[in-house]
Amino acid sequence: MGARKKVVLLGATGSIGTSALKVIRQRSDRLELVGIAANQNAEALAAIAKEFSVPSVCLYDEDAYRSAKADELFPKSIELSCGSEGLCRLASHPDCDIALIAVVGTQGLLPALAAIEAGKTLAVASKEILVLAGKFIMEAAEKAGVRLLPVDSEHNALFQCLEGIPKPHVSRLVLTGSGGSFRDLPTEQLQTVSLEQALKHPNWDMGPKVTIDSATMANKGLEMIEAKWLFGMEPHQVDVVIHSQSIVHSMVECIDGSVIAQMSPPDMAFAIQHTLLYPDRGAAPAQRLDFSSPFTLDFRPPDLERYPCLSLARHAIKAGGGAPGIFNAANEIAVDAFVQERIKFVEIAKIVEKTLETIDNREPGTIDEVLEYDSQARAEAARNVSLFNL
Ligand code: MG
Repeated sequence: MGARKKVVLLGATGSIGTSALKVIRQRSDRLELVGIAANQNAEALAAIAKEFSVPSVCLYDEDAYRSAKADELFPKSIELSCGSEGLCRLASHPDCDIALIAVVGTQGLLPALAAIEAGKTLAVASKEILVLAGKFIMEAAEKAGVRLLPVDSEHNALFQCLEGIPKPHVSRLVLTGSGGSFRDLPTEQLQTVSLEQALKHPNWDMGPKVTIDSATMANKGLEMIEAKWLFGMEPHQVDVVIHSQSIVHSMVECIDGSVIAQMSPPDMAFAIQHTLLYPDRGAAPAQRLDFSSPFTLDFRPPDLERYPCLSLARHAIKAGGGAPGIFNAANEIAVDAFVQERIKFVEIAKIVEKTLETIDNREPGTIDEVLEYDSQARAEAARNVSLFNL
């Protein structure tokens, strides 16, 4: 048996984290978990540390960290840390080969940079890393000669499709999206949809934030921004199509009109395993596509009246500078307000639009400025939420 690849997993208790653990469990001959982090779920983290004999653990939340210490939840042999420093230490740990960053929000930004600067392969799952700091991350990765591997199913698909295609041969990237919970609902009924209805995704089993973002397609908007940075595309070269089955995960259209697609069942394990084993491949981590019984794939252009967040995202990409960050921050605040049932579903896009209008678009010059700008956008979005309060 060759040396196992050493994996650090930030966001081990989340939706992506859970799928990643499943892959690492199945491929324990090839992968070894050497570091894990979660926000505050100490019990879940302790169980993972025990199962995988993980030597380094970070509890981001300081109170959770203190009580875990007081309760001796982790054996003394485990290196326990907290906060952003703890995350950065794990991501750049001498024992780490690949850092998978799947934490919620902007907390993944500094650890992503720390991993790159330490020369670690970076597996990106947290959208904020590229949406907020794409310029800094791509520059740092190029400087350090570090490879970025996208975990999100769409970008992972594009990564696979683009292998072997010289960039001048690429005409555009086509991201697929399921269209979310309300893709077939008459648009006038969107005014009155409930939280419960919005949380029912037709194909994917994901966390609440991503499920709502999928219903508004703000998710696809964020993915367009990520794709632009990851693959060095112009804004007009990134497109979106609705594909109900979530089997084609994205496509690359070449200048000669040939379209290369990547297909697999809608299970994150495929993209995660591809990333963790890259450039190698392993046996299918879940049920394969079954061509022995008939199935249909359909595609249709997104209806921008149904999905105003998609137009807002396109506007933000074209505007550049800090606009993608404002889009992200305002959307997060608005979705949060919707999940708390403080605003209506259709008001999510209105809050994003208003926040994009009311903040001056500046280009942040440093990571600190990125984070500062993010806070400013959140505060402005929160003010806009109170205007729409039910
Ligand atoms: Mg996705």
